[in-house]
Amino acid sequence: MSKSIRIAIVGSGVAGMTALHYLNSKLKSNKNVEFFLIDPNPNFVFTPRLTELITGVTKEKYMIKPKSIFKDHERIHVIKASAKEINLNSKQITVDRIISKLNLKKGQIIDYDYLLLAQGASTNFWGIKGAKKFCFPYKEYPDAQKLKLEIFSHLNSESDEDLNITIAGAGPTGVELAFSITDAIKAANKQRKKEGKSLKENIKVHIVDSGEFMLKKLPSYFQKKSTSLANKKKIFFHSKERVKEVHRAHVDLVSGKKVSSQICIWTAGVTPNVILTVPNVVEDSGHIRVQRSMQVYPLKFPEVFAAGDCTLLEDISKKKSSKKKKNGGKMESVRVRKTYYPPTAQVASRQAEFASENMFVMIKNKKLGLNVPIKLKEFNYKSKGWFVELGTKMALAQAGPIFFKEPVAWHARDKYYKYFFWKLMNGY
Ligand SMILES: Cc1cc2nc3c(=O)[nH]c(=O)nc-3n(C[C@H](O)[C@H](O)[C@H](O)COP(=O)(O)OP(=O)(O)OC[C@H]3O[C@@H](n4cnc5c(N)ncnc54)[C@H](O)[C@@H]3O)c2cc1C
Repeated sequence: MSKSIRIAIVGSGVAGMTALHYLNSKLKSNKNVEFFLIDPNPNFVFTPRLTELITGVTKEKYMIKPKSIFKDHERIHVIKASAKEINLNSKQITVDRIISKLNLKKGQIIDYDYLLLAQGASTNFWGIKGAKKFCFPYKEYPDAQKLKLEIFSHLNSESDEDLNITIAGAGPTGVELAFSITDAIKAANKQRKKEGKSLKENIKVHIVDSGEFMLKKLPSYFQKKSTSLANKKKIFFHSKERVKEVHRAHVDLVSGKKVSSQICIWTAGVTPNVILTVPNVVEDSGHIRVQRSMQVYPLKFPEVFAAGDCTLLEDISKKKSSKKKKNGGKMESVRVRKTYYPPTAQVASRQAEFASENMFVMIKNKKLGLNVPIKLKEFNYKSKGWFVELGTKMALAQAGPIFFKEPVAWHARDKYYKYFFWKLMNGY
């Protein structure tokens, strides 16, 4: 019997799951393939829906699935562990715990023939004083559970103390959270009224961002609409501000302003999850630089691919090679800053599709014994649009040139995300 082909996937988020299903389906007829899906988390979590956990309007089954869904797949080995080190020369991954069920070297080393790095990113506190100590991150399922518990313990208590909730960062996650929390407070007060309890009227939601409007990286329709709706819902938007320091009960802003804050949530950026590689292919920023084929840079290890939030790749769809600016009477060339693909689920899943398509072509070529150079597909992607939820059954959406408003957008988002999640769990 010929030796099996071992495909290791590090990280089972959006990119990892996309690649697993793609390759499992394409290599269906090849009985000699084994997959090693390495991730310490016991569940698959669809992060674009995580903010909906606060209102509870969307059932958890549409965003979280236990990994037991693979228990009947003989060739898919789910390894609940963290990859600690990867030796690209010997093609071995060391994980942080002993895996006894599989026949692994020393119980902790996984050999691979092909590798996809898809370990995603974590909350970036940017070294801001007090941020890591006093803020809730909002990236993983346990983060969402902890925050929900904290908010609801205030909402269900009989204390009439002021409660200020501050969110750092008015990107999609921060804005969605601000609206979800506001709606959760409204729903809790409705219930309290029914039960004849006093209303929680001294709770304020603040959001801090350096932009003039919320959602500053999205089209201006999203910026203006979300900012004006936040105003209507009495969400306090501290625009053109940045957090300087976080304390237990207040936040200092760079302008010198102090915001009273008993709960602070940090949604102002992410940083790639770093895994040690030998030799090192990780940039100082923690990113893995990839070629347009999604193989890691430099091309010394063609069998190693990467996709999703842990990667760095220039977005050439936005590239303007030169820009002219008038200086007095003369036109001068101005250097244009490079733009990189943003850490979003849509980019992660498309990159994983490209990576696995190219990996499949390499495996097929090798099997056929073809010794000709292969032309791999080059990643190029233009965003198809955006969805942002603005509280219970409210959202904004854009698909190509069309913008959708509240309830219609919410239903479109709900349907699309249910399909996206289903595809991530069930494949092609
Ligand atoms: C609250 C929230 C809302 C979001 N909303 C949107 C949205 O509306 N639209 C959108 O496009 N994007 C959204 N995003 C971003 C999107 O979720 C990410 O860009 C996407 O999940 C990236 O996919 P990924 O596979 O690279 O990483 P992830 O999906 O984060 O998966 C990475 C996986 O790697 C695992 N891992 C980490 N370290 C290791 C290790 N050492 N060994 C093994 N495994 C490891 C992690 O446990 C995780 O399961 C949101 C993110 C958050 C947090």
